Amino acid sequence: MSDLLARYAEVAGHDAVEHLRQLAHPLEGVRVVHVNSTKEGGGVAEILHKLIPLMQALGIDARWEVIEGNEEFFRCTKSFHNALQGAHVHVPESLLEEYREVNRKNAEILGDLLEDAEIVFIHDPQPAALIEHFPRRRGKWIWRCHIDVSHPYRPIWKFLRPIVSSYDASIFHLPEFAQPLPHEQVLIPPSIDPLSEKNMDLPEEEVAQVFERFGLDPALPMILQVSRFDRFKDPLGVIEASRIARKFVPHQLVLAGGSASDDPEGEAVLEEVRKAAEWDDDVHVLVLPSNAHRTINALQRAAHVVLQKSLREGFGLTVTEAMWKGKPVIGGDTGGIRLQVIDHFTGFRVTTPEGAALRIRWLLYRDDKRREMGERARRIVRENFLITRHVRDHLALMLSLLRGTGDRLEVGPAA
Ligand code: UDP
Repeated sequence: MSDLLARYAEVAGHDAVEHLRQLAHPLEGVRVVHVNSTKEGGGVAEILHKLIPLMQALGIDARWEVIEGNEEFFRCTKSFHNALQGAHVHVPESLLEEYREVNRKNAEILGDLLEDAEIVFIHDPQPAALIEHFPRRRGKWIWRCHIDVSHPYRPIWKFLRPIVSSYDASIFHLPEFAQPLPHEQVLIPPSIDPLSEKNMDLPEEEVAQVFERFGLDPALPMILQVSRFDRFKDPLGVIEASRIARKFVPHQLVLAGGSASDDPEGEAVLEEVRKAAEWDDDVHVLVLPSNAHRTINALQRAAHVVLQKSLREGFGLTVTEAMWKGKPVIGGDTGGIRLQVIDHFTGFRVTTPEGAALRIRWLLYRDDKRREMGERARRIVRENFLITRHVRDHLALMLSLLRGTGDRLEVGPAA
């Protein structure tokens, strides 16, 4: 077993990795190409950085290609992104032309590679139109959608739907995010990497240091929300919940998020949060640099309870991260949080600050229950939301597309 697989086996379980090896066996040497539009930044690039080496370690000939685009192209695809998530944006014909043109040029560059690949994963709308230039493609093409397209702005969906329809399958995070399409649709939720700086085990001293580093009281229970400063994450609701709960059980609240200098709305929300917290010694607002993964890891480990009281949420990776660290999560009853926070089992789902306050009180009083819930939360993540499960789902999909026969999936050695 490669070193990498051995490291995953240690954290995700030997069974999980053995299962991957079995599934990958009939796919050994299969040529798989993933295509997206950026090498750095954003969740898609992050997952591909982990997924590709893991696939390679399993014997699959996996590659990752990034399309090149100009400013107009990315302006167009940014509008697609917003429109697919429901915003009413007009995209002029000239930009749509540029979208097709950039895809045509990239199709030329990627030519034989995509023509001959047995499986092609195309991520999000940016490279979706590549498929139009491969009428003689050999392999199966899969459109991996990372966006919530449950309520797309119709004119844009009308443009993209015929393109997406020509794929052999599409993947969405959650059933709620999908659209009816004339091919197989698969649900694969996101995942976290247990070996990353954000999620790996940390020495106890490093966890304890966050108290001194951020002026927190080590003797007082800490509750935490990690999020961008965004209204949908309801930071003001979290402050209110903590205040109500503090009348009954003393604790400190930490709201940690990134600097919002490139996001005018984020800046305004951060200001509101600072204002709401300025007279309150038990509320700490931390603005962290974008690469503060280890710090966030330590904060999540130092917390007694983690909140993600979102009013709307795609998946909520912060929830997965906290659960992996054995923390019960009080989460907003929305989006992917519903998939992770099993009410009364791995945490609580709430809709109001009062509801959240009630759950904070209960969890801070009940050390035993808090631990029990935290242990279950970690187990749920281990079984469902680690990158090993993500790879397993990809392998199963590849097998079903390449070797599936009706209702049967052939995983034995190739005939
Ligand atoms: N995150 C971070 N720094 C911050 C705020 C968030 O690194 O200041 C990370 C967080 O740990 C998580 C991701 O950004 O990995 C946020 O993903 P999530 O799905 O929770 O929310 P999104 O921001 O995508 O709406």
